[in-house]
Amino acid sequence: MNQNDLQAVAYEVIDTPASKKVATLWMQNPPVNALSKSVRVGLLENLNKAMADDSVDIIVISSKQNLFSGGADISEFSGGDLEPSLPVVLDAIEHSSKPVVAVLNGPAFGGGLEVALACHYRVTFASNKVGLPEVNLGILPGAGGTQRLPRLAGVQQALDMIVSGRPVAANKLTGVFDLVVDAPETLLTRAIGFCEEVVAKGGQVRKTCDVQVDASSAPKELFEQYRKGLAVKARGFFAPERCIQAVEASVALPFDEGLKREGELFMECMGSKEARAQQHFFFAERSASHVKDFDKTTPVRDIQKVGIIGAGTMGGGIAMNFANAGIPVIILELQQEALDKGLALIRKNYENSAKKGKLTQEQVEQRMALLSGSTAYADLGDVDLVIEAVFEKMSVKQEVFKSLDAVCKPGAILASNTSTLDIDEIAKATKRPEDVIGLHFFSPANVMKLLEVVKTSKTSPEVIKTSMKMAKKINKVAVLVGVCFGFVGNRMIETYGREANRMMLEGATPENVDKVIYDFGLPMGPFTMGDMAGQDIGAFVRESRREFIKHDPTYCILADKLVEQGRVGLKAGKGVYLYEAGNRKPIPDPSVMDLAKQTAADLGVAQRDISDQEIIERIIFPMINEGALILEEGIAAKSSDIDVIYVYGYGFPVYRGGPMQYADEIGLKTVYDAMCKYRDELSEHGKNWFEPAPLLKKLAEQGKRFSDL
Ligand code: NAD
Repeated sequence: MNQNDLQAVAYEVIDTPASKKVATLWMQNPPVNALSKSVRVGLLENLNKAMADDSVDIIVISSKQNLFSGGADISEFSGGDLEPSLPVVLDAIEHSSKPVVAVLNGPAFGGGLEVALACHYRVTFASNKVGLPEVNLGILPGAGGTQRLPRLAGVQQALDMIVSGRPVAANKLTGVFDLVVDAPETLLTRAIGFCEEVVAKGGQVRKTCDVQVDASSAPKELFEQYRKGLAVKARGFFAPERCIQAVEASVALPFDEGLKREGELFMECMGSKEARAQQHFFFAERSASHVKDFDKTTPVRDIQKVGIIGAGTMGGGIAMNFANAGIPVIILELQQEALDKGLALIRKNYENSAKKGKLTQEQVEQRMALLSGSTAYADLGDVDLVIEAVFEKMSVKQEVFKSLDAVCKPGAILASNTSTLDIDEIAKATKRPEDVIGLHFFSPANVMKLLEVVKTSKTSPEVIKTSMKMAKKINKVAVLVGVCFGFVGNRMIETYGREANRMMLEGATPENVDKVIYDFGLPMGPFTMGDMAGQDIGAFVRESRREFIKHDPTYCILADKLVEQGRVGLKAGKGVYLYEAGNRKPIPDPSVMDLAKQTAADLGVAQRDISDQEIIERIIFPMINEGALILEEGIAAKSSDIDVIYVYGYGFPVYRGGPMQYADEIGLKTVYDAMCKYRDELSEHGKNWFEPAPLLKKLAEQGKRFSDL
């Protein structure tokens, strides 16, 4: 093996056609060329080697992998030996007396792009993507990115990239690249030619730090406007404001002082609970696909054609996911009329995307061409996967599965999109329960990222593995869960609606409860959500749970009364709130509070002022407690899986990391003590619903976190 093969940065001197010598530093640290210590050491040592070699005319930094660098090594975030730091390496590159050219043979993100910015020249190909995504981890570029990018790209572009974290194609970015070639295959040859030109012109060293930021392009108002524009989008996040301040520093301060300010802001971000939460979530999402139920040897089935039963709200959305991924779908309804209606709605959705410029008309037609309809089960004989999305009723579902069992080929996966029903029971309608699984999409199914993959007691590892892989193909984040009422997401959300309703009975106004929960970071409060989903849907689910809730006569009683009055929510123009025609803005209705007052008096429930703190604790803590029960029962394998479900399925703020990470952050003892307090203080209601889960109690007593499990 060549000595170079072992190193994180390989050194090669290339002789150019014009007899120039290009010392090339090839980063090679699979899988993403992270800038780990070994790479930083390698860059520094090889830079010195090139400097010491008098025959070397110019230096190139590049990579032989299909990306330049994915950025910092996140596993180093928790500390360890970090010398030499990236800023030190970049300072050495920038102050090199020989010209240094970054040749971006593939994407450069975060620290990877910061390496390129510290070089004297940059070369890449047109469609290559670069970005500074640190803000997504709750931090900011900490190796000069916030000071060098504005110097090259100008303040506006730098702000956009740093604050949004979004990648940009090289040919859309001005000021950064000295040469952008069209064809990636020609990059190396053209880059060598570029190096020859630089040397021929005298080998000028062009330090980014010497460039002056154009202050006239960045008046104070620009930053103020930027802040205003972010007010809603970035609400609750800590890092975006610090990103803005760092870019402001690039305008107001000399380079070295700007770097110092960037360092201070970086440390502020690193120490923030938001960064901890966002970094937790980054790993949570990636670890969701690591499950113990299968391994590398488990075979995966091929999914080439999909069947969907039911062309309603969910069936249509689910079908779109597959068509978007180029997979043909056949949709079955019992009546031609319902089928036509469903297919027409799908077309309308695609047409709307086309109107917004998200799809071309050609793409709309391509996707529609992948969708066919049928009213005969016999047409499902060749599908590899079928997903049932019919009415939420066990007898209907079992009937469907019996029919599927009769017509589907051996090895076809039979899935249900049920929200609450026992999939083991559904599987009993077939002679192949090992092929039956839950694929619980969230509404709107073509938009929401989450997929709960629900294994039954009999689902085979092969079917689980295939389902998890299939999810990736249709761009979903899959989390594997077990069977119980509502699985993970809807089981936990039950506590959310229950407590909100009970607090209204105790005198809290819906608008205050909703405001507190919105301010906590959820996209909307429980009452707005209930009205939007339809209060009748909640009532329907409660009906199927009467046995479980019959001991509590106050259970969602106000919601039940409103439904009885036809106040089913937005679609009726009245629910907990009132709505004007064509307007989704909830209008508080004093008569609802009168109803609450009367009902509370009838049931002997005392009304009182309820503090914002109590609203958060009573709505969020029982969810966490339910999460603890879910972990104890093995319905979810790890607490981070629950967090992924809540962020992607319910809009739990990612800067809190999910409910379980939030609990870990504030301390499980805080949650446990509050559960005990409400159990003891809320009389019958407390006894009914606030008993702490044994796991919560145990971890709180041991001073541990859910993530320690
Ligand atoms: P829907 O009423 O909009 O659609 C159901 C469709 O199934 C209708 O078009 C109906 O004609 C058709 N259908 C009924 N019986 C059938 C049969 N035997 N064969 C073929 N087609 C039949 O309902 P939806 O909201 O799409 O819900 C469907 C399923 O998805 C339910 O199990 C529901 O619990 C679940 N789900 C719904 C949501 C949601 O937010 N709506 C979210 C997740 C899961």
